Amino acid sequence: MKKEFRDFLKSKGRSRFPAVLLASAECAPLAKTGGLADVVSTLSKSFRAMGIDARVIMPYHRCIKNKYAGRAEHMFYFYVQLGWRREYAGIEKLELDGVTVYLVDNEHYFGDRIYWGGEGEIEQYAFFTRAVMDALPNLDFAPEIIHCNDWHTAMMPMLAKTQYPGGMQERLRYVLTIHNIAFQGKCSFALAKDLLGIEDRYLTSEFMELNGCANFMKGGCVFADRINTVSPSYAREIMTDYYGEGLEGILNARAGEVSGIVNGIDKDVFNPHSDPLIPARFDRGHRKGKAVCKAALQEQMGLERRPDVPIFAMVTRMTEQKGLDLVACVLDELMGREDMQFMLLGSGEERFENFMRAAEYRYKGRVCAYIGYNEELAHKIYAGSDFYLMPSRFEPCGLSQMIAMRYGTIPIVRETGGLRDTVMPFNQFTGEGTGFSFANYDAWEMGDAIRSALACWQNKDLMDTLISNAMKADFGFELSAEEYARLYLCML
Ligand code: ADP
Repeated sequence: MKKEFRDFLKSKGRSRFPAVLLASAECAPLAKTGGLADVVSTLSKSFRAMGIDARVIMPYHRCIKNKYAGRAEHMFYFYVQLGWRREYAGIEKLELDGVTVYLVDNEHYFGDRIYWGGEGEIEQYAFFTRAVMDALPNLDFAPEIIHCNDWHTAMMPMLAKTQYPGGMQERLRYVLTIHNIAFQGKCSFALAKDLLGIEDRYLTSEFMELNGCANFMKGGCVFADRINTVSPSYAREIMTDYYGEGLEGILNARAGEVSGIVNGIDKDVFNPHSDPLIPARFDRGHRKGKAVCKAALQEQMGLERRPDVPIFAMVTRMTEQKGLDLVACVLDELMGREDMQFMLLGSGEERFENFMRAAEYRYKGRVCAYIGYNEELAHKIYAGSDFYLMPSRFEPCGLSQMIAMRYGTIPIVRETGGLRDTVMPFNQFTGEGTGFSFANYDAWEMGDAIRSALACWQNKDLMDTLISNAMKADFGFELSAEEYARLYLCML
């Protein structure tokens, strides 16, 4: 453990780091729909390497049962009182890459779908929340800190402080990480009362009411000891009414307890030097392999095989959050005037999928779209492209831009949230910076940033400096884990 942490603990008269339980709806590789799963798993592994006893508790989704049932050890079971419902909850334990994961079992709530959507999802995760709270005193582990993630687990601190007086749950410290404030877990007062027995006095604007609904995320923001998000810029942004989705009031009221910690990427999985999914390997000092990857990518995706033309790429969910409407607005103009190629891997809203299919048809050999999810192709795109476009409307942290940089693919991003914190605009006079950026959510500003990138492409020395800077940037999870450790310590 780092000397800084040892000294701090000593000053508090402690010999050990407080134990931490991460509560989450998903954790990679057990169950994953997005970045949250990666964050929880990489964070817990990094903590272990730092000598911190951090464990995970999550639902026993069917996809986990199908694969890991033989390895999970049944610990105990009990019945959860969810309003009038009396539901079985089993606690299973699984060791994965040295991390202990507790799995909450209930065949009804945790079946094929990780998220049911709608009000059903509220019931699903109200059950999970209650099951974790009731299981806490009986685990073979005594955490001092509970790390909640997103609205699915955000109600734990509120329940602890309002429904477990004198219990061990009340004495624990709670940190809530907001991975995406757009999802808050909203429901009617009646449902909140029915599922979790929330008293009327807490269904007010002072506590968990927002716009006439009960709001799980707000409950978490009011009662958690600390609130955290996944980048310092996003932490500032969600205190404004443009980004705050109605929670800016409570976040401002608690501004002193809100922080932002940038996520990291798994440097073993995303490593151009050893990646088995790409056709040739390379690193910062030896980049010939990148040219091989580019040629193979152009071949595979039906683009003209021209090393002199830059490939601009996106690997993304196709939603408005990711700036697809900006792309739709300027793609024709750019393809009409510039010598460039554009490639997109992703799926999502039909209007964007159709736009990309039509663009591929119009600009045969220069634009291509792979509609769907394909992890292997994603690696090939990160390795074989020249520029990576991420013009997000909002971006709590974003992983893709960091992955792109690791593969020497230069990001072009909108200055928002984690994009602003991880991509340093290139200054061709000082040779500093790792990418290109633009400030406003505006298609023409994005077009200008793309044109700056194209101008840089013409100058080999500048490009070399830029690629070298981008590949040098360190986005490992070790740095994030240390920041989280500091956050935990300041809660003691
Ligand atoms: P978000 O979690 O908001 O979707 P991030 O940039 O944080 O965005 O993470 C997205 C991750 O999912 C990246 O690792 C990206 O490569 C991957 N990804 C997104 N869409 C696809 C796809 N269609 N095929 C393969 N990987 C994808």
